[in-house]
Parts: sequence; C-alpha cells; structure tokens
Amino acid sequence: MDPTNKVAVITGASRGLGAGLAERFLERGLRVAACARRRPALADDESRLLTRAADVTDTDAMAQLCTAAVERFGRVDLWINNAGLLAPIGPLRDNDPGAFALHMQVNVVGVFNGSRAFIRHLHARGGDGVLLNISSGAARNAYAGWSAYCAGKAALDRMSEAIALEEADSGLRVHAVAPGIIDTDMQTMIRSSTPEQFPRVQKFLDLKTKGAFSSPPFVADRLLELAFDPSAADTPVLTSLPLEHV
Ligand code: NAP
Repeated sequence: MDPTNKVAVITGASRGLGAGLAERFLERGLRVAACARRRPALADDESRLLTRAADVTDTDAMAQLCTAAVERFGRVDLWINNAGLLAPIGPLRDNDPGAFALHMQVNVVGVFNGSRAFIRHLHARGGDGVLLNISSGAARNAYAGWSAYCAGKAALDRMSEAIALEEADSGLRVHAVAPGIIDTDMQTMIRSSTPEQFPRVQKFLDLKTKGAFSSPPFVADRLLELAFDPSAADTPVLTSLPLEHV
C-alpha cells in the first residue's frame, strides 16, 4: 500500500483529529485539501496543501472545496467528513432547541454536503474513490446526556449504508468509522461535564489519568490502510478502528 500522491480532502482540520490527520497524511506523501470554519493553520508547499475557511453546513462551500481540490491536484481520491460537534450535552429536556438544530446541521447535513460534493466528482471523472465518515461509539450505543450526538452519529452511520447501496456500481467505497478516543478539545468538553449532564464522565476522567488515547498519527495510518490497502476492501460499511493502547 503506497498512498504517495493520493489526494485527500479533510473537513474539520483546524484542530483536533482533523488537523492531526492532515499533518500525518502530508508526512506520508499525500496531497491534502483541508477546511474548517477557521482556516487550518497547516504549512506546506502549495503543490501539496490547500487550506480553506469553509463551513460544512454550506452546500456550495463544500462543492467549491471539491472543485478547488480538483483544480489544484487534478482529482480527489479520499474524502473524510471529520467535522463534528458534541454540544448540546445534558438531558434532552434541558437542551437548547437552537443548539440541537445546529448540531444536526453540522453532524448530519454537513456529512450530506461533503458526501454529495465528492460523489458528484467521482461520477464526473469516473474511477474509484473512498468516502470515510467519522462516526463514534455513540452511533452504536445510547448514552444519557448525549442525545444529539448519538442521534447525529447514528444518522451518519445509516446515511453511509444507504450511500453504499446507491453507489455499489460506481467505484465508491464508503465507511462510517468509529476512530477510538483521541485527546482533543472535544474530550476536554466531555471531561468538563457534570455527572448530572453526563453520567459516564468518570470513565473519561479515568482515561485522561491513564493517558489511554489513540494518537492522531495512529488513527491516520489506520484510515490510510482502510482506504488504500487492498486487503481492507471487504471491510463492512460500519467499522471501528482498533485502539492504540489496549
Ligand atoms: P474537535 O477537537 O472539537 O475539532 C472539531 C473540528 O471540526 C475543528 O477543526 C472545527 O473547526 C471543525 N468544525 C466544527 N464545526 C464545523 C463546521 N460547521 N464546518 C467546518 N468545520 C467545523 O473534535 P475532534 O475530537 O477532533 O473530533 C473530530 C471528529 O471525530 C468528530 O466528528 C467527532 O465526533 C469524532 N470523534 C472524536 C472522538 C474523540 O475521542 N475525539 C471520538 C469519536 C469520534 P472550527 O471550529 O474552526 O470550524
């Protein structure tokens, strides 16, 4: 498996997992187009890196990101819908309706917008491509205090399965990937929850004490294997990465 010169688009790449994926992909020789609401502060040669301030909730901005990547690099091989929110946390009865609606805009409509842009590019150019939608264990198990996050990630999972059926003959492979636990701003927000808001908060405080997180480079390498190693071709649509420390 040699990912050199493959072209990847990563959303939500200004910090956290997305920024770590972009850095590692560049180290591994990929060309990268990275976006977030705040333009990612990544540095590399223009022939290998394109950065944009773009909001995943904006359909046109995602189409323009795809077009810009194709104009700069000639094609897109891998699209990673990574941008995501955790808030609102706490019992649904206390959630702000506007915060819940924004969550769905980013975590569900944002994935729709990115997926749509990439799939339309694949149909226009022909050939293969890989779509990775960053999911969570919260898609597959319900957790008190995370109704928005559980619902949004479950929607991402089922959207990915529907896309796989629609695109079965088009050369697209799609996976909804639970990446493990990575120590990002999102984890800081989880640890700052009260037990009343999020009854499982102690588990995440314990994880911090043990330092038992997967690192972004580890996750990046597993995602590249999933995308480009021929032995991964039969991986189910819904999948989870191994943990770096077990
Ligand atoms: P994070 O530290 O909060 O970073 C989120 C990223 O998404 C930031 O770059 C943010 O940048 C961007 N973003 C947020 N809203 C956006 C929007 N509307 N348009 C474009 N970009 C937007 O989160 P993370 O922990 O890295 O999480 C990344 C992904 O992994 C998420 O989908 C999360 O659900 C998933 N995940 C994380 C963990 C974990 O342990 N960290 C575990 C399971 C799944 P701006 O604020 O500049 O827009």
